[in-house]
Amino acid sequence: MDATAPITQDVMTIPRKAEAGLPNLVGMSRETMRDALIAAGAPEKQVKMRVNQIWSWLYHWGVRDFGEMTNLSKDFRAMLQEQFVITLPEVVTRQVSDDGTRKYLVRIAGGHEVEVVYIPEKDRGTLCISSQVGCTLTCSFCHTGTQKLVRNLTAAEIIGQVMLARDDLGEWPVPGQPVEDGRLLSNVVLMGMGEPLYNFENVRDAMKIAMDPEGIQLSRRRITLSTSGVVPEIARTAEEIGCLLAISFHATTDEVRDKLVPINKKWNLEVLLQSLRDYPKVSNSERITFEYVMLHGVNDSDEDAHRLVKLIEGIPAKINLIPFNEWPGAPYTRSSNNRIRAFAEIIHNAGYASPIRKPRGEDIMAACGQLKSETERARKSRAQISAETGGA
Ligand code: SAH
Ligand code: SF4
Repeated sequence: MDATAPITQDVMTIPRKAEAGLPNLVGMSRETMRDALIAAGAPEKQVKMRVNQIWSWLYHWGVRDFGEMTNLSKDFRAMLQEQFVITLPEVVTRQVSDDGTRKYLVRIAGGHEVEVVYIPEKDRGTLCISSQVGCTLTCSFCHTGTQKLVRNLTAAEIIGQVMLARDDLGEWPVPGQPVEDGRLLSNVVLMGMGEPLYNFENVRDAMKIAMDPEGIQLSRRRITLSTSGVVPEIARTAEEIGCLLAISFHATTDEVRDKLVPINKKWNLEVLLQSLRDYPKVSNSERITFEYVMLHGVNDSDEDAHRLVKLIEGIPAKINLIPFNEWPGAPYTRSSNNRIRAFAEIIHNAGYASPIRKPRGEDIMAACGQLKSETERARKSRAQISAETGGA
């Protein structure tokens, strides 16, 4: 990618009503919304219908203004206006790479920021969303792992990332106009900041909203949750979400994995692999993605590739090889292209798909494991430059 490629950037502001302290309708499950409406005085016998109507405005039509909910009575809309808000995270900046990748820096309550990345492909588009600000885990190759956990995102903040991307892509249906074939935002991956299985309930509730047939309607086969291997929650993911699973595998011996993904000391390869053998049966999903970051001289030998193939025997799998995205001070370097290709070849010959992940949006620092930290660094260096040159 040409690092001098043009970047477009603009700043948008959305009013931050949530600060008024009223409950946000976004992110509530249908049951929670039902209870909240009853508590606000909605007649119980109508409440199921009201939930359906509001749900459809929020998640099918993408409406944010109670005034536009025209099939609700004026009195009911006034009650909603007084007692609830409809709030999404605030988009602070939006950058578009010359390869079409879009990166949004979004601000959530408390002033924290997370990043959301949209990656367009030929016949689909994937949104990479975050589940936490920072991470409690300390994977040694991951820049997020060097940042302290600040907090879990709420269900509203998680589904809000999908909604604001649909806003930006202009992807809500327009009444009276036929729905176009093929979605710009067709897939969601939980591969941004944070460990989604340490924020299980909020991730589950948000993904249930994304999958709801009366709303955004993403098939569970188009949502992939990536985990470092929180074994007890893996079975729950199958039972309560049913989406596709990706595992940050990254090593083929406990000794190496203990160092790269320290949660391995709690749930080692054997225990993890057993939970993965059970996953497709319970979730009815086709196959598990094994993410494998290619680190020069650490986990990238032919022996590693052969061991990997042996370990995952019998698991319907695809292995996604990720060239390491280096960051300043990182204790590793990226494997050479030849090494990555040789590794891929061994896995391919064993009958597994072994795509090498192409870095996208490099000119806007949107790659895996680079989110937020790079923005912070860029900001810092801008501030430093400005200080050095005597600017504001
Ligand atoms: N916490 C979850 C999901 C977020 S990370 C998890 O660990 O699975 C998404 C993917 O990016 C994971 O496979 C992670 O190991 C990988 N990753 C993190 N930092 C990286 C880096 N610097 N280069 C390449 N991949 C990285
Ligand atoms: Fe957390 Fe995932 Fe990074 Fe590990 S790889 S520190 S689990 S975000």
